[in-house]
Amino acid sequence: MRQVSSRNGSGSAAIPIATGGSVLRPLKAAEVVARNVVRAIRAQGLQPGDGLPSEAEMVKQYGVSRESLREGLRLLEVQGMITIRRGPGGGPLVGTVDSANLGRMEALYFHLAGATYGELFDAWLFAEPTLARMAAANPDAALRESAMAPYLSGDVEEEAHDDLDIYVSGHEGFHGAVAALSGNKVFQVTFRAYGQLVAHHLATVADVRTIHQTLAHDHVKLARVIVDGDPKKAEAMMRTHLTNIVNLHRASMGDLLEDDVEWL
Ligand SMILES: [Zn+2]
Repeated sequence: MRQVSSRNGSGSAAIPIATGGSVLRPLKAAEVVARNVVRAIRAQGLQPGDGLPSEAEMVKQYGVSRESLREGLRLLEVQGMITIRRGPGGGPLVGTVDSANLGRMEALYFHLAGATYGELFDAWLFAEPTLARMAAANPDAALRESAMAPYLSGDVEEEAHDDLDIYVSGHEGFHGAVAALSGNKVFQVTFRAYGQLVAHHLATVADVRTIHQTLAHDHVKLARVIVDGDPKKAEAMMRTHLTNIVNLHRASMGDLLEDDVEWL
C-alpha cells in the first residue's frame, strides 16, 4: 500500500517521518571515530583551540583507515566540534558546542519531512519560555544576577543597532544566557537550536530592528524577573517577547509561513 505523504504549501510531496527504525543501528566506522575523538577531548580536558593529535597518530591510535578517520573528523567539523587547519603545520583543533549547528542539521530533517516555518514558530514558542522559567528557578541567585547583569541596562543591544548581523547576534546572546541559566544542558542545546534557526532564517524576512525598542525593553524586564527569581512571570514574559517577533514575521511572511523550512 502506498503511504500518504504530507504536502507543503507548494504541493510537493514530503518524506514521511520514520518511526524509530534506526534506534538500534550500529555505528558506522566514521561515527566510531567521531565518538572516540569526542571522548578523548573530554577525557583530556581539552578546550576550544587546543590541538588534537596528527592524522597519522590518530590512524594508529584508533586502528582505522585514513579514509574512515577523515570521514569521522569531517562529521565533527560540520558540527563545529573541531576545526581543521589545512596545509603545512595544519591539523585538527578542538572547536565549540554550538546549537546553531544542530539547528542547521535539523533544517535538513525539517525540510525533507515537510515541516513548515509555522511549525518551527510553534516549537520555539514552546521551548524558549520553558528555558526562561527554568532560568528564573535556578537556585543560585548570585549566578542569576551575574549572568543577567549585562542585560539589565539594555545598553548591549543599543550599541550594535546599525548592523543587522551584529544586532541579531547580540539578541541571541541574551537568549543564550537565559538558556545557560536553565541548568539543563539537554534543554539548552536542543531548545536553543529552534531560536537560532528562526534568527538565521528569518533575520532578512522581517527586520526585527523595527521593533527594536520593544525587544530591548523586553530583555531588560526579563533579565530583572530572572534575577528576582520569578519563574512563572519569566515564562509568560518570554512567551510575549517571542510572540512579538513571531507576529512581526507572520505579517511579512504571508504564504511563506506554510513553506517548508529551508536548508540555508
Ligand atoms: Zn529576545
